[in-house]
Amino acid sequence: MLVIMKNDATKEQVIAVVREIERMGYQGIPIPGALRTAVCITGNQGPVDDSRLLSLDGVKETVRVTKPYKLVSRETHPQPTVITIDNVAIGGGKPVVMAGPCAIENEKQTLTIARIVKAHGAQVFRGGAFKPRTSPYSFQGLGEEGLRLLRKVREETGLLIITEAIDHTNIMLVEEYADIIQIGARNMQNYSLLRRAGRSPKPILLKRGFAATIEELLMSAEYIMAAGNSQVILCERGIRTFADNTRNTLDLSAIPSIKEVSHLPVVVDPSHAAGRREYVIPLSRGAIAVGADGLLVEVHHDPVHALSDGRQSLDADQFATLMTQIK
Ligand code: PEP
Ligand code: MN
Repeated sequence: MLVIMKNDATKEQVIAVVREIERMGYQGIPIPGALRTAVCITGNQGPVDDSRLLSLDGVKETVRVTKPYKLVSRETHPQPTVITIDNVAIGGGKPVVMAGPCAIENEKQTLTIARIVKAHGAQVFRGGAFKPRTSPYSFQGLGEEGLRLLRKVREETGLLIITEAIDHTNIMLVEEYADIIQIGARNMQNYSLLRRAGRSPKPILLKRGFAATIEELLMSAEYIMAAGNSQVILCERGIRTFADNTRNTLDLSAIPSIKEVSHLPVVVDPSHAAGRREYVIPLSRGAIAVGADGLLVEVHHDPVHALSDGRQSLDADQFATLMTQIK
């Protein structure tokens, strides 16, 4: 349930509503909007008796939330959420490009790719220091050494940094170095990691699991928001279908579907969906055309020798083409 405050309700009146909700045994989460504040009630198992709330000063009305998710829902927050980090706005109307290698391999590789993506207009540098690999024998990432190289990229280029946290222990480390913490497809339903991400001061980019429905993705985002972090970016990265022409099937319909029911920004990762660099540019154009708020794309200066996901990484010339085409 949402408690809608009057337009001129004071801060004290909002606090009084939150206290009353807590007295009833639930949590009250204030959601400031352009015109009015709403207080979202969470933690109730069944219907809430709103009579005490309606009698409080500053309360306009109560509205039942029909969706199983609340904080991520547009019913709760009708305006789109814009996540601003330094001078980069994600969800602000202009697509944001996050680009870089799948994995941080060494200093030369990292800085070479960072200079390439910066020169062509990317705003965020991506690169994994902790890699969730399908095989335990594949390159697992450089760990903290990789994070230190990402910090170097930020210092040298001014690019923001997105990198993945794969478990409870390394999220503590990742949040010291990253501007955005990525939670990967394999961890979309790792609920204890999601709760921990909800206590982080950094924005979270949550990838859709490869067998997850939109509703499951939104429920996972709800875990993060319910734990206190409202800065969540969703990412469509392809799902598993019977089609074998690509690594996964990019679900472009997810973007308008999510935007219909949620206020959160949505970006698209065409690289992990395609699995082949030849398809990354057309899929990126499609993503922007259906309203994605940005792209997360793999780029490598020498894709043939990349330690991970080289087959789907754009080279420097292809990245330049991508940037021109999406403009
Ligand atoms: C990645 O971004 O490198 C990655 C591992 O992606 P996903 O979690 O979507 O497989
Ligand atoms: Mn990858």
